[in-house]
Amino acid sequence: MKTKRTGSSFNALRSARALESIFLFTTGKCNAKCAMCFYANDMEQKAPDLSFEEIKKLSESAGAFNRLWLSGGEPTLREDLPDIIELFYKNNQIKDINFPSNGIKTERIIQWLKRIRTRCPDCNVSISISFDGFGGTHDTQRGVPCFYQAAETLKRLDGEFKDDGRVIKNIATVITKYNVGEALDFMAWVYGRFNVTTHTIEAARGMTREDGVKVLTEKSLRDIQDKAAPYYLLYAKRIGEGMTMFRKRLTEFFYVGLYRAMYTIRAANLDKPAPWGMDCTAGETTLVIDYDGRFRACELRPPIGRVKDYGYNVREIMASGAMKQEIEAIGHGHRANCWCTHGCWIMSSMTFNPVKMIAKLIKSYGETKRLARPLEVTEERLRGMEEQYHLDRDKLAAIGIV
Ligand code: SF4
Ligand code: SF4
Repeated sequence: MKTKRTGSSFNALRSARALESIFLFTTGKCNAKCAMCFYANDMEQKAPDLSFEEIKKLSESAGAFNRLWLSGGEPTLREDLPDIIELFYKNNQIKDINFPSNGIKTERIIQWLKRIRTRCPDCNVSISISFDGFGGTHDTQRGVPCFYQAAETLKRLDGEFKDDGRVIKNIATVITKYNVGEALDFMAWVYGRFNVTTHTIEAARGMTREDGVKVLTEKSLRDIQDKAAPYYLLYAKRIGEGMTMFRKRLTEFFYVGLYRAMYTIRAANLDKPAPWGMDCTAGETTLVIDYDGRFRACELRPPIGRVKDYGYNVREIMASGAMKQEIEAIGHGHRANCWCTHGCWIMSSMTFNPVKMIAKLIKSYGETKRLARPLEVTEERLRGMEEQYHLDRDKLAAIGIV
């Protein structure tokens, strides 16, 4: 049965600022060694992960909030992750889960998503698989050979959740020195070969594991984003299939407008901090909990305490002197001048700046429409790229991609 996509919590634009998103680093373990990983130093501390009982206390004290952003480490290495998600569904009535993964544990991802859909039926799940480039490029950047495994995961996700509008299938590509030359070809190939909801691109951020991987400038990132813009119109069309004309248009407006607005802010912040044109609401609406129990207002700022010192009570943490001081220091981004490229916070902050957001959406939608151009994603071109980038077509055929 086809499950219709329902409103995500992003649709509920609000101006009252309250806890809306918890970013939970579920584990400090990972089965990849990505060159651009910004959490490598933290993971190398090898501190123990928060236990299920500790996370249970956090969930029980948090009250209702909308969105749980999983992070890590690799979330699929946390054996009790489905139980943790169910905790937040039951105790906090979460409406959206962001589930990033490197896609290596294919079977586990499929089985866990099935379980989440059964036990958390009213929740949208955005599963975001890291996919950085063709074959060897992806493997080099990820530090382990996993291109075909990630491809298989994406194919299985499409097969298992094709008609389930609550499972949003995303591909996330981080641009580095390794894949910058093929990023636009890769966007075309991904669009042609995978039935995903979207494909986000972002520049490597933070302190990366490997030096020298960040090669983009504001100008080169804007150039890639402009050239990629027409794909977002195609993705919007894909999402709108089967909708009424009115809903199609509305979906295209929000989808394309949101991505372009976020991308514009990101590019402006790549070389130097540049005000977002709206308040950053880090610490007012967001809480980051590291795998070892440290907490922060924002992933890119230092930890400001330990959850155990507040009895694992999220309400106390949000109302704590440490959090108040941090919010004061950030000053909605203006005081700290720490404007960044972090899409999760840009998106989260947009929902709390509704008037400014609508103005940005109108402008961004118009810009994308002006960048529209015919895209050639033919079978011939797809095959040509598979040859050019030395993909193993037998392996792709075995997975069901060609
Ligand atoms: S970027 Fe993600 S998948 Fe890669 S090493 Fe870091 S935590 Fe693991
Ligand atoms: S502007 Fe960026 S770095 Fe500064 S608090 Fe907001 S999300 Fe964090």
